[in-house]
Amino acid sequence: MNEIERLRKFIDGCDETILHALVERAELVQQVKAAKEEAGAPLFDPERKGTLIRRLLEFNSYKDDPAPAKLIEAVFGAIHDASLELMGAAPTKDDPLAVLERTFEVGDLRVGHRLNPFYIAGPCAVETRELLVSVLDSLARLGVTAVRGGAYKPRTSPRSFQGLGAKGLEMLREEATSRGLVVVSEVLDQESLEAARDLVDIVQVGTRNMSNFSLLRRIGGMGRPVLLKRGYGATLDEWLQAAAYLVDGGSTQVIFCERGIRTFEHSTRNTLDLSTVALLKELHGLPVVVDVSHAAGRRDILAQLACAAFATGADGVMVEVHADPSVALSDAHQQITPKAFAELARQVCQDVRRAPSIREVAL
Ligand code: PEP
Ligand code: MN
Repeated sequence: MNEIERLRKFIDGCDETILHALVERAELVQQVKAAKEEAGAPLFDPERKGTLIRRLLEFNSYKDDPAPAKLIEAVFGAIHDASLELMGAAPTKDDPLAVLERTFEVGDLRVGHRLNPFYIAGPCAVETRELLVSVLDSLARLGVTAVRGGAYKPRTSPRSFQGLGAKGLEMLREEATSRGLVVVSEVLDQESLEAARDLVDIVQVGTRNMSNFSLLRRIGGMGRPVLLKRGYGATLDEWLQAAAYLVDGGSTQVIFCERGIRTFEHSTRNTLDLSTVALLKELHGLPVVVDVSHAAGRRDILAQLACAAFATGADGVMVEVHADPSVALSDAHQQITPKAFAELARQVCQDVRRAPSIREVAL
């Protein structure tokens, strides 16, 4: 017997052990199905896959000889999906949103947990390394876990600063990695998608691309969490359908980002629609972030909007932060300094629970 055949015999032995465990697991799955039917509980639980994999990753981390995390995610993800098929509980194409995970983790960022609200902060655009170093240093010191920065900028005028492209993304990745920060950055097209593949943790779809359905499908296929901005003229239903395109492509982790819609009101750049944020949480329990900077288009009411966003149930707030907003190459009117951001965060922390107290009486 040559060496390869000898090793394959061991692999066959391992496969038999795995098969025994799978049969036992399938039997337990049927028992869970019966118990759920008895209790009238839904067969499909969108949280279960995430919890199951996270538990195994933690268990694995205590082992002397841990398995690669990617292997655990791929194998147990597939086992879970197959179990759903067996139960007849796999989410159907009729309800693509059912596959979206309501909670998940990206690095240190915990998404969708009511007790872990977060900020995504950083400059509108990546301009220079100095800018990144200065802003990311401050944000990391403040405990912010996710940073933003556009390298591919969708600008109204083709003459405006278009971003640094791949170079900008590489810079952002390096400066974020050295500080343990999660990177959120926008993808505009196939070129930026390829550049972002290894450099971005959460892929942002901008408001102008929410209805670019072929791009959404391709982004869905990247296997990355996506921050899906609401189109500035899109209804809630159209926004949800855009997420369905991501799901069609393969996404299971989508963060919805409300960034204001166009109305007749011009005192603000857009009109922040918090009703829709409340509905996304109330009706669908989906992860939602509110981008107060692009909603307001001005600096003076960002803290109030952030308070309102968290009070409405948003999981996170996005804020544009620049070392020197007055000379920013884009969105100079709405960006704030790290110091102002720290002040905003302090104010939000103080005010968000503030509400008139009422007497405890029986009515
Ligand atoms: C951005 O966040 O950089 C951006 C361009 O936002 P929006 O797509 O919401 O305009
Ligand atoms: Mn901007």
